[in-house]
Amino acid sequence: MDTNFSPADLAFRDEVRAFLKAAWTDVLGQYPEPLGGIIDVEWQKRLYAQGWIAPNWPVECGGTGWSATQKYIFETERAAVGAPDVSPFGLKMVGPVIYTFGNEEQKKRFLPGILNSEDWWCQGYSEPGAGSDLASLKTKAERDGDDYIVNGAKIWTTLAQMADWMFCLVRTSTEGKPQQGISFLLIDMKTPGITVRPIYTIDEEHHLNEVILDNVRVPVANRIGEENQGWTYAKSLLAHERTAIAGVADSKRHLADLKQLAAAECNGGVRAIDEPRFRHRFADIEAELMALEYTELRVLAAMAKGDGPGVESSLLKLKGTEIQQSIAELRLDLAAAFGAVVQGELSSEQVGHSFGNLARRNFLAGRAATIYGGSDEVQKNITAKFVLGL
Ligand SMILES: Cc1cc2nc3c(=O)[nH]c(=O)nc-3n(C[C@H](O)[C@H](O)[C@H](O)COP(=O)(O)OP(=O)(O)OC[C@H]3O[C@@H](n4cnc5c(N)ncnc54)[C@H](O)[C@@H]3O)c2cc1C
Repeated sequence: MDTNFSPADLAFRDEVRAFLKAAWTDVLGQYPEPLGGIIDVEWQKRLYAQGWIAPNWPVECGGTGWSATQKYIFETERAAVGAPDVSPFGLKMVGPVIYTFGNEEQKKRFLPGILNSEDWWCQGYSEPGAGSDLASLKTKAERDGDDYIVNGAKIWTTLAQMADWMFCLVRTSTEGKPQQGISFLLIDMKTPGITVRPIYTIDEEHHLNEVILDNVRVPVANRIGEENQGWTYAKSLLAHERTAIAGVADSKRHLADLKQLAAAECNGGVRAIDEPRFRHRFADIEAELMALEYTELRVLAAMAKGDGPGVESSLLKLKGTEIQQSIAELRLDLAAAFGAVVQGELSSEQVGHSFGNLARRNFLAGRAATIYGGSDEVQKNITAKFVLGL
């Protein structure tokens, strides 16, 4: 992939910048207080109206037809203004499974609601006894005429409390290898028999849930692909999930913000960025991030040609989340450094109470990044086996 932008790429960058300036500023203007999810919904609707909600989807399904360079430009510019990435469950996870493995009926029924943000999705993979060893999942789906009757429990289900639909792995056979008896179902969260129970995480927020399925009736028409072949579809989704988790553009922006903060004068004229303990950390993270960015560009270029993402998504996830955690730790330490005496130009928003709280919350919530989407140890096993051939 050529990262020297052509005149056409530069014109595209101007177009993206103009759109972001107008649309993101407008969304922020409407919601001056941080309202989390509401801003995200509003933002996604703007992207949809612009036709830019799903850059990685095929054009015939609602994608943009952008080149790898254009996708890179969009991501970089989007992160640079602080606009959020789209919610991954519909657009980056189940959407690609539906347009790749679903039938025409399913594409017509589900893809529009994902694109226009009317339908919100959650991921029903993990169970109390099945996380890293996902194939040992036990939630059972038994045929009853044109329906399956689903019984079992899912856990760590992110934002299930807000989801309209759940894409769910269920066991439809106990014959042969565990991977061979899994099917991929789309479940309407309003179906009788579904109970969603909150799980509060270390940051004291409600992101996660337990989802109990008690005799839940799901039409066979909501099964993606063949019965017992769900593992193949589930794995393709995981590769998309891991690539999306890497978050390079957002990490670049967070690091740039911190650098600006650290370069401001405080503490009797001492700048944090001049202190060796911070300088080294900035330099280390920057070098790692640049290396990851080039790896991501290679994956994007391959995806633009119709390949993957394959096992290299494990490397992206592994390094990307490690860098996110290093940045969160640096932010926390900077907050502590500024905690003593603040002088000069720094605003209270940056280093005062709200900055410290944000730093603490991000640090705590970010600990989970090396667990979700497949833990570090599991990504290392995959890399050893399929990349290094060990
Ligand atoms: C914040 C958060 C959000 C999540 N959201 C979702 C969601 O929306 N939907 C969903 O389905 N799941 C979700 N998960 C679940 C996540 O995918 C699992 O937590 C993850 O796959 C690990 O599984 P586990 O928790 O059962 O840990 P385990 O698999 O029990 O692992 C425990 C420890 O053993 C290590 N380990 C396990 N197997 C091996 C091995 N073979 N070799 C070496 N070490 C190993 C692991 O690395 C880990 O350190 C979420 C998790 C978190 C923390």
